[in-house]
Amino acid sequence: MSTDGVPERTGNNLDPWYANYAERAAGFAASEVRALFAVASRPEVVSLAGGMPFVSALPQDLITTSMDRVMREQGPTALQYGGGAGIPALREHILDVMSLEGIRGASVDDVVTSTGSQQALDFVAKLFLDPGDVVLAEAPSYVGALGVFRSYQASVVHVATDDDGLIPEALRETIGFLRSQGRRIKFLYTIPNFHNPAGVTLSAERRPEILEICRQNEILVLEDNPYGLLHFDEPAPNALRSMDPEGVIYLGSFSKTLAPGFRVGWALAPHAIREKLILAAESAVLSPSSFSQLVVAEYLSTVDWRGQIDTFRGVYRERKDAMIEALGEYLPQLRWTNPNGGFYVWVTMPDVLDSKQMLPRAVRELVAYTPGTAFFADGRGRHAMRLSYCYPTPEAIRLGIRRLATVINGELDL
Ligand code: PMP
Repeated sequence: MSTDGVPERTGNNLDPWYANYAERAAGFAASEVRALFAVASRPEVVSLAGGMPFVSALPQDLITTSMDRVMREQGPTALQYGGGAGIPALREHILDVMSLEGIRGASVDDVVTSTGSQQALDFVAKLFLDPGDVVLAEAPSYVGALGVFRSYQASVVHVATDDDGLIPEALRETIGFLRSQGRRIKFLYTIPNFHNPAGVTLSAERRPEILEICRQNEILVLEDNPYGLLHFDEPAPNALRSMDPEGVIYLGSFSKTLAPGFRVGWALAPHAIREKLILAAESAVLSPSSFSQLVVAEYLSTVDWRGQIDTFRGVYRERKDAMIEALGEYLPQLRWTNPNGGFYVWVTMPDVLDSKQMLPRAVRELVAYTPGTAFFADGRGRHAMRLSYCYPTPEAIRLGIRRLATVINGELDL
């Protein structure tokens, strides 16, 4: 406070309202690499940074037909507010989609649609997190989830992973340690399939063990699964939710299996939680977009959506293969994961290299990636980076990796 009782403006910020923000607003910090990403979106830059689905592989004409039909047959409903839980017809389809991952017998009442699964993630965080609460998450974890947890002033504690996903023993030890410190653990946030950013999948053997550890310690599981149906070889093991309907909140999305532009995702919540989730949704948005939900429902009833997912798998598989091959050819001195689905490869570099420091040089060489530090809440990840193969063509991917090799070899003085 200054002497006249007016709060002093702290920091060197030009925003006149700076001192008035709620404490939680400190969690809304732009990432240090955001400005660089703006540069990286220039067409001459090969961007291996973003996670944009390749929507050009969609049947645009059939989507247009779905939109037309919705407007002709259900115009007034599409243009009106809907219920907070979402449109029932779409929620029925969502049960079908989830049955592909072993989730059977769930009630349509327990599905709550949202504006992308990102919003469902926010609702869950809003319902469960008080400042100082602990969220357990894989090391590394999805940058967008870390941002949500930070915005509710929770602290993320990372749990070690390997090529088979979260390590049960590490989970047990982390929980034991946190409990001994008197910390409140609210939930385990996990991306079991084709992890963003690690590219790994939690093995079938580990799934019941992880659930058992959480059950014993009364820790809710938040299973985030937007990539689960995008496998290359064998399908992902059944969802955690299929094994523990009361202990898991499952998040799903049409962003990767259809298109992120509709912004339609969902949560499947234990029955006890779903009412609160709907109240959180209603207070935030009244209802998600009726139009988007109806178009997605129409698409699912009239288009061969399973076939379309197969098409996506083929596209992403070819791109993943191009990336792995190029890494082997141009950067054999690095280590990387070899995903069996999804969008991402996690690359680990020698300790002398720092991916954040190196990024401006990479952008000058016309290639971009996401530095590993974005995926940790505790500053780790300097020697790692996430490479996405979802959007660029195989040729562009090869070119991008070749440019990256120039940068890395330059840094290593080779
Ligand atoms: N979770 C993960 C792991 C993601 O990668 C993403 C998108 N990048 C989301 C959630 C959010 O997806 P959406 O809101 O588009 O459903």
